[in-house]
Parts: sequence; C-alpha cells; structure tokens
Amino acid sequence: MADQLHIDWTACRGRGVCSELIPELLDLDEWGYPLPRAGLDVPRELAPHARRAVAQCPRLALSLQTVATS
Ligand code: SF4
Repeated sequence: MADQLHIDWTACRGRGVCSELIPELLDLDEWGYPLPRAGLDVPRELAPHARRAVAQCPRLALSLQTVATS
C-alpha cells in the first residue's frame, strides 16, 4: 500500500499553497496550478508534509488516497 496525492481539478484554484509545502512533489505551471514533478506517489518520508498540504489546501482540492502496490 502507498499514499498517492489526488488533485480535484474542478475545485483547485491554483493558489499554489501545496507546491510551497511539498516542492519535492509539486511544481507550478505558468497559471499557478500544481504540476506533479514525477507522478503523484508520496514517498514515506514526505507523507507528513503531504498531509499538511492536504490540510491547508484552501479549496479542499487536495487529498491523499491509499493505493495498492504490486
Ligand atoms: S493548495 Fe489546493 S487550491 Fe491551491 S493550488 Fe494546491 S490543490 Fe489547488
């Protein structure tokens, strides 16, 4: 099992708080929307930062999902 970030694009307004909190995972595109750097899998060591980004997203557009790994 692994954590994966999920971005609800219908809710996201591109304020970029998430990319400030987990720059290792998210960059910003030219309009300020989060851009995954290399997929949305969350390495174990970044899980606390990812949970903080989820909690601080002002649009509740960011969530963590647990996915099965093969
Ligand atoms: S913090 Fe939330 S609303 Fe802001 S860019 Fe990230 S996902 Fe979108």
